[in-house]
Amino acid sequence: MKIETGNVGPNLTSDKFCADHKDQSLQMYCLTCDAAVCVTCVCENHRKHNTMTLHKKFQLAQKHLQFDLDKLQLDVKQVKSALTKLHDIEKSGDKSADDAILQIQEQAQANIHRIHKQADEKIDKIKEDRGKHLKDIHDYEKDLAVYLEQLQRGAGFLGDLQDEDMCIELLSSFQKYQGVLESTEKSVVNRKIKQNDFTFIPGKVVEKLGNVWMGKSVLKNHEQTNNLMPQDEPKKGMFKFLHGKVTCNGFLYFAVFLCLLVGVGQFVWAIGNDGATLETVACAVGYCYLCLAGVFAYRKAKLSAEES
Ligand SMILES: [Zn+2]
Ligand SMILES: [Zn+2]
Repeated sequence: MKIETGNVGPNLTSDKFCADHKDQSLQMYCLTCDAAVCVTCVCENHRKHNTMTLHKKFQLAQKHLQFDLDKLQLDVKQVKSALTKLHDIEKSGDKSADDAILQIQEQAQANIHRIHKQADEKIDKIKEDRGKHLKDIHDYEKDLAVYLEQLQRGAGFLGDLQDEDMCIELLSSFQKYQGVLESTEKSVVNRKIKQNDFTFIPGKVVEKLGNVWMGKSVLKNHEQTNNLMPQDEPKKGMFKFLHGKVTCNGFLYFAVFLCLLVGVGQFVWAIGNDGATLETVACAVGYCYLCLAGVFAYRKAKLSAEES
């Protein structure tokens, strides 16, 4: 009982004298009754019982206690080691959580940085291109203002003209004015002014199979060319007739088409002369296949060139 409560006192020994025989000290132990008895008791009540001397009993008990002590010490060790391990588990579990949080944050930062970098590259491209045509536009503005001023001066002059003002000097100075006006006009007419037209097509973001797919976004500048004051320029003879109708590419298309036609014609001629042998037909089919493949390859190359 005292061991159980953790309070082990020095007065653990029980009475040293027999309760039944007051003058007898307890020197024997009855194993059957599990009690300390005196010599007289052994001869009387416990005569047929299994007894031994108290000293022997203590010796035996000491062995058992030593065994119990060893076992208790072993258990203490085990529990202590279990506690240490438990603390380690608690700590390492907690540390793994911290590490994972840190890694997630780092990855998020890296992804954000990557996206920002891509965006910045595109923005830089726009910033680089946006002012590209401004100088031309400003120059044109100035030249147009000069031209407008000249026109208004001429109109004002002629509007204010009275019949009595008419003289040779006036006519010759007006002619001079017309010469100046013409040269100014030449510089403003048919002038090509380029215009930026940026378009941005954002890439699609798709979540599939646990992955986030970020499509490539496309930034384009469809430069447009404006002619604000179109005026036909006089062309001469043959060149005038061909101008705008024949281009270098157009001529090449025509030549290639003609060559293909000649090739097909030769096959038809061969079949007409020698009959449709397997060899000729196979060659004709192969030739047509190559021509079509060429056309499609060209179209594809042209489309991808336009896209980029
Ligand atoms: Zn007794
Ligand atoms: Zn007994």
